[in-house]
Amino acid sequence: MSLLVLAASALLAAPAPAARPADHVFVVMLDGTRPDFLRRARAPVIHRMAIEGTTFLQAETTYPSQTRVAFVSLPTGSHPGSHGIVGGDEIKDASWKNLETGDNDPIAAQVLVARPTFFEEATAAGLTSVYAAMKGYELVGAKGATWTINGKLTLDKTAYAARYAPETGGSQELALWYKESLSRQLLDQTLAIVRERRPNLVVINLGSADYVAHTWGPSSAQYMQTIEFMDGLVGELAAELGRLGMLERTAFVFSADHGFSDVDPTRIIAPAGDATRRHQHRGGQHGRLRA
Ligand SMILES: [Zn+2]
Repeated sequence: MSLLVLAASALLAAPAPAARPADHVFVVMLDGTRPDFLRRARAPVIHRMAIEGTTFLQAETTYPSQTRVAFVSLPTGSHPGSHGIVGGDEIKDASWKNLETGDNDPIAAQVLVARPTFFEEATAAGLTSVYAAMKGYELVGAKGATWTINGKLTLDKTAYAARYAPETGGSQELALWYKESLSRQLLDQTLAIVRERRPNLVVINLGSADYVAHTWGPSSAQYMQTIEFMDGLVGELAAELGRLGMLERTAFVFSADHGFSDVDPTRIIAPAGDATRRHQHRGGQHGRLRA
């Protein structure tokens, strides 16, 4: 992940080489998407970009492999021990007092991030940026971003409430559609800013695969279908950038913040209090663990 981050930063900060650097960088985060599943999926848009671009298959997630931790490592290019956001639902200050900032006020929690972000570097260079966070708490890492979107507050409440539900109104298909629609909505909200402001750096976390894997596991048909749905969204993003006349001047970076593993449902290996375990209970499922 750090290497991917460096690649994005280099596009922004490097002195002009023979080829002019990109004017826009879109960092598309596929939350919870495993690279081996992405390779097997019918994902022609991302596959073509991978062939035409550069791939790095040795990237590893941070540890603990949680969304909020990885999404601070991304813009800081540093490990949790360095940036200071080490996971969990509670964030403690230097005197070991709980700060009520983790989920509900991620912007306030930015003071706890001990490393500079590439958003701050972009701003210092006179560039604009967007951090579109599906879960909201990723915005702990948005320190210095010009604009932010907190999906927890802006996405459709009915779909958001069903993000871990195995069925809605008795329908698995509807539950899956809700999960997928969250990524479409976040992309639409991001594109509204892109059309108006033409930002230089965009980080967007498309989280549908994460919710689907928490609910049905990575071996489910729904997980593969969702990865393929996300590929369609990326195609729509590229098409819209083409209509806006931005595509030729845009570089894309794709990554995930972590993957998923299937585990034996008779063995609960998440420690007590772990957020993943709460999700398992909420979804009525056991044995889905972030990896
Ligand atoms: Zn995640």
